[in-house]
Amino acid sequence: MYNRIPIHDIIFKVAPTYCWNVHKAQVCVLLRTLLDLMRPSKLHLKQNPILKDYQVYVREMVKERGFEKEKISHIFMLFLEECGEMAKAARKRQKLKVDAASEEFEMADEVADVFMYLLDICNYYDVDLEKAFRDKEEKNKKRTWK
Ligand SMILES: [Mg+2]
Repeated sequence: MYNRIPIHDIIFKVAPTYCWNVHKAQVCVLLRTLLDLMRPSKLHLKQNPILKDYQVYVREMVKERGFEKEKISHIFMLFLEECGEMAKAARKRQKLKVDAASEEFEMADEVADVFMYLLDICNYYDVDLEKAFRDKEEKNKKRTWK
């Protein structure tokens, strides 16, 4: 579908010439978004994935969506933002008072977001999360818990 629509057709239907020079940057962003929406995703998470498969999936997802050059500081901010949304979802579940006008979040969505950014951070630092989990848990087993 993406390859069948000539780019100049889209440009002249979406961006009439009278506003082209004035809103060129915005029109380019709009066109990029439209083209991204029309391009079928090649992402696939196999059945019964192991943790490494999720890490590979997130690496490919980041590339496909054009975020592979994202700075680690930005990834951390997004990760923490998702942690905040997860906390907000927990507050909702606990039926704690929240601003009625504030955005609502679903726990399952936010846990998935946090997991994705955690895997993205692991990929950035070349951390194999399964190995890290196993190694750290071996250390934790030797700790004394009061
Ligand atoms: Mg979220």
